[in-house]
This record gives sequence, C-alpha cells and structure tokens, in this order.
Amino acid sequence: MAEVEGVIKFDYAFDETDEVVPIDEQILLWRQMLFQYDLVGEVPDRYGGFGFGNISYRLPQGFAITASQTGRAAILEAQHFALVTDWSLERNWLRAEGAMRPSSESLTHAAIYEANASIQAVFHVHSPALWGAQEMLCLPETAASIPYGTVEMAATLKALTQRLGAEGLIRMAGHEDGIVAWSTSPLGAGARLLKALSDVP
Ligand SMILES: [Zn+2]
Repeated sequence: MAEVEGVIKFDYAFDETDEVVPIDEQILLWRQMLFQYDLVGEVPDRYGGFGFGNISYRLPQGFAITASQTGRAAILEAQHFALVTDWSLERNWLRAEGAMRPSSESLTHAAIYEANASIQAVFHVHSPALWGAQEMLCLPETAASIPYGTVEMAATLKALTQRLGAEGLIRMAGHEDGIVAWSTSPLGAGARLLKALSDVP
C-alpha cells in the first residue's frame, strides 16, 4: 500500500490545553520561509492533498513541533504547535499537550533529539529538487524500504544522527521527497537546507 502523508501512526497520550507554550520567534519566521519555498505546505496535487513538512525545536520540557494538518497556513502562531514532553521510540509512543495534536512525524524528530543533546532544531521538509538530485548531492540517507512514521525509521534516524553529529542533512529514500535537516540552532538547520537548494539546478 502506498504510504499516506499526514496520518499519525504512533500511539500517544494527548492533553488538550489552551495554555500554549510561547514559540521562539526564529522558528515562526523559519516556518514562514519554508512555506514560501514550498518545502512545507498543503497543495491539492502533492501527496493526496495532505499537509507536508514539519519543524520543531528543543525546549527544557521536550520539544515543540508544528501540529498535525497545519500545512496550509502560511503563517503559524503558538497555538499551531504541540509540546512533546515524553516519548519511547521502542514503543512507538509519545505524550504531548497543546491546543492541537502533534505532527504525524513527531517520533522522527524525537529520535534526532534523543541521539544528540546539542541538537536544538529539526526541520523536515518535502523537496522534489533535493530528493531528486541525490546523484549529485550524495546525502546520507535512510533506506528505501523504511517508510516514515515507523519504529524502524526512528531507530535508523537515531543511529544516523549519532553518526553524523549535531549538524545533519539527510534524505529519506523511502518517503517521497522527504529531507531532514538538524542543527544546534534554527538558523543552522534552515541555512543548511537553503544552501543545498542553491547547489541544485
Ligand atoms: Zn514527510
């Protein structure tokens, strides 16, 4: 069966609350920029019309991540983020709170934060340009046999992050157009993506 973008595959405990955490201004600006570049979004002719791409950053309580199905909004506010406070990669489980439910790809982000304590921001985007230029870019990648949102993807990404360190840009061969960038700052993750995009024709 073809994978379906945007469908939550993990088990989770969710506390719906109106008390949203304040979101770093840099993250909001980067989200806006990535949307402008069509790296996150929601359009009818891509991925069956489901939203794509999600970004997160580390907080003392865990990490804040864009909520599920927020792709169509050009500008996000704090209530469009969920706070992930606990997780288990092995059990494919997480706990989150907020006004909206966490992204379907939250465990992918969790795996990266778990791998390296210096990582502060993770951007998962969908870029046909970067994904299709693998012969030229030779990005580290997860195997084509591993779909997104699985225990295997989380374990693979954790190992890949441990190998690459606090700065990374990888291709998900088993997740159409899937690219992940992480860094010690939102600027680091965003700049890494834009630099790679400027390198492809
Ligand atoms: Zn994705």
